[in-house]
Amino acid sequence: MILAQLPRFHLSILTKSPSSSLSSPHFNLLNHRSNPPVSLARTLFSFAPKSNLSTVEPIPLPVSDSSDLDEAPVEISLDKLFIPPETDISGDDPSSLTARVLKGSNIVLSKYARDAQVAQADYVKSSVRTEDCPADGLPEFALVGRSNVGKSSLLNSLVRRKRLALTSKKPVSCQWGKTQCINHFRINDNWYLVDLPGYGYASAPHELKQDWNKFTKDYFLNRSTLVSVFLLVDASIPPKQIDLDYASWLGQNQVPMTMVFTKCDKRKKKKNGGKRPEENIKEFQDLIQGFFEATPPWIMTSSVTNQGRDEILLHMAQLRNYWLKH
Ligand code: GDP
Repeated sequence: MILAQLPRFHLSILTKSPSSSLSSPHFNLLNHRSNPPVSLARTLFSFAPKSNLSTVEPIPLPVSDSSDLDEAPVEISLDKLFIPPETDISGDDPSSLTARVLKGSNIVLSKYARDAQVAQADYVKSSVRTEDCPADGLPEFALVGRSNVGKSSLLNSLVRRKRLALTSKKPVSCQWGKTQCINHFRINDNWYLVDLPGYGYASAPHELKQDWNKFTKDYFLNRSTLVSVFLLVDASIPPKQIDLDYASWLGQNQVPMTMVFTKCDKRKKKKNGGKRPEENIKEFQDLIQGFFEATPPWIMTSSVTNQGRDEILLHMAQLRNYWLKH
């Protein structure tokens, strides 16, 4: 069972939010509201294609990895957890609830967390319009983020390949490359990982940027098989306005979203003015708080240490399996 394989990790669940978070020696992601958690996803999984999931054994999660060594304890208040639909936490005391939260995230495991392994990954096609995307009704997850956020590295790490995603340092159109297309990769023949164009590339012509916005926004709003957008945010730097704008837009348009914080292995020294990933993440969370009815799921990752890899796959699995059933 997956739950039995969960690692011990530095996380504790708070039932009340203390008034100050940064003054605490612990990193706190705390809510200032006292509402019980309400899952955004609850209202957003309304499509029901046929399931053709294969039965694969659940992935064992690592007991620890190198990224644990200097990880500060994370405290999350109850109302900042992401509780997947049909997940009852009322019988859990804080310690058993802690054991149900995916490492480095606010995501509670549900009964749908299974079949998370990636056994096969195939590039399928690149599309320039939502209508041209695969029409087989399989569920999909779209990865999006600022150029250089680490999207290609994460995609490759998820499928354990060196170069599944096509990497490019410059935005080019579909005539020359794939980075400005909606790129579909089929996983295990039953779901898709979708690579969307990176945004915010400084030297892109203004008009081209406008097009990307229209193109990706149309995909977010009209792709009926999109289970969740995974918005990648670089945790090694302070929040950027363009990422906040994207998060805000997704929140306002009720597009289901998971925040994936990348490059969490980069730990800058305080004396140089840099902040630790946890501090940047907290700042980002605070800034986007007003955009969402409930805290969206978030997860810390590193493509260098593979931190968060198995956890993302489990999160995708539980969203997908729920979506397939409803
Ligand atoms: P993309 O433009 O979003 O696809 O970003 P890439 O995956 O090409 O990565 C951009 C740069 O960030 C490259 O130099 C990567 O080596 C580096 N990078 C990506 N992920 C990580 C990570 O998790 N940790 C660190 N330290 N560097 C990373």
